[in-house]
Amino acid sequence: MYELIEQTIQCPYCGEMIELTIDCSEQQQRYIEDCHVCCQPININVEIDVDHQIAICVTHDNE
Ligand SMILES: [Zn+2]
Repeated sequence: MYELIEQTIQCPYCGEMIELTIDCSEQQQRYIEDCHVCCQPININVEIDVDHQIAICVTHDNE
């Protein structure tokens, strides 16, 4: 099954809301997206379970 889902996250640096498009064909994803407002690198962790529940974890790069 191939599906794209839009989710909104909050930038951990400046608090801006950012829209992500998540590819549900992969159950575990980890990537870095630059905030379009403050240009800081945001670590994004996506986990999708069998019921298609999406859990997104957003962290600072320098932890
Ligand atoms: Zn930001």
